[in-house]
Amino acid sequence: MAVLVQIENLRKEFGNVCALDGVTFDVQAGEWIAIMGPSGSGKTTLINILGGLDTPTSGRAIVDGADVGRLDESGLARFRSEKIGFIFQQFHLVPYLTAIENVMLAQYFHSTTDETEAREALGRVGLTDRVEHLPGQLSGGEQQRVAVARALINHPKLILADEPTGNLDEANEGIVLKLLRELHSEGHTILMVTHAASIGQLADRRIELAHGRLAQVNVRV
Ligand code: ADP
Ligand code: MG
Repeated sequence: MAVLVQIENLRKEFGNVCALDGVTFDVQAGEWIAIMGPSGSGKTTLINILGGLDTPTSGRAIVDGADVGRLDESGLARFRSEKIGFIFQQFHLVPYLTAIENVMLAQYFHSTTDETEAREALGRVGLTDRVEHLPGQLSGGEQQRVAVARALINHPKLILADEPTGNLDEANEGIVLKLLRELHSEGHTILMVTHAASIGQLADRRIELAHGRLAQVNVRV
């Protein structure tokens, strides 16, 4: 199997807070990893560095051959739009754009918009009859499904999901997890932050952080 992500002695300091204190691990292409650990242990910081939303203080994060910390602003923008699909706990949809426009915006940043493809992506997440709705007219679960469609639209190498079901009720949690399971079985590489042991069990490996350090690595049994 090919290595898609290499994390080497990664450190991130915010002033005198050490959010990541020398984290090293690899992710194989096609793997589903759950990042676990208590609040404040550095999970979001790790995801943000991998996705080029933040830069490390030292160490390296290499994603599909790109040393993320060394990219300049335009390189980072291209890296994010071409290689990464983000799913955040708070959805982060643009409030004044409809569901389909939110998906098409991601296409626009990547290359060119394609309404048919955007519509198909929303169909895949079960939102065929919601394409013209604004985020405010959608339930939390529906908004997160729009975010999943947006994350997938550019066929990213790596899906980064930071507590993707943290704000959802049980029914929508089930729908989003089913989508993640499908993506995994299609060969997508997924790094997912979760608090819930039951959700962590779905992943191939669980990597636990404590105080910015790797505390434990568990393979699915
Ligand atoms: P988690 O996602 O595991 O809850 P975070 O990665 O968000 O943890 O945070 C790790 C540590 O870094 C925490 O102590 C947090 O307060 C601190 N931290 C995170 N982001 C910032 C920031 N932008 N400025 C200052 N401190 C931060
Ligand atoms: Mg977090």
